Amino acid sequence: MNNIICYCGSGNLFKECCQPYITGIKKAPAAEALMRSRYSAYAVHNADYLWATTYPKRRKYHSKKAILQWAESNQWIKLEVLNFTETVVEFKAYYLDEMLKAQIHHEKSRFIKENNIWYYVDGDY
Ligand SMILES: [Zn+2]
Repeated sequence: MNNIICYCGSGNLFKECCQPYITGIKKAPAAEALMRSRYSAYAVHNADYLWATTYPKRRKYHSKKAILQWAESNQWIKLEVLNFTETVVEFKAYYLDEMLKAQIHHEKSRFIKENNIWYYVDGDY
């Protein structure tokens, strides 16, 4: 468990990559890092982190229960970050759905920094 490679595809150890963000030891310093850590949070079924990193004004459009169910019902295979700017990250998340069918979630996510903390706002997909 201690030496697992990070789910986000960085090639770094999970404990030195996304885990410190997910456990709250560190704040993601940029939109891309936040996006990667949110993918990893799906992989480890951490809905609390996904909720906490959603922009507060947008939380009404999500439910923690639905996030957890979505995280748990899929098997997260890999993440590909295609492009990113300071506030937008385009990625493909590869996963197996409940029927074990291979799926790709392709999204352009928007992020915002408020009080020095990055949040996920929404995405086009
Ligand atoms: Zn990572």
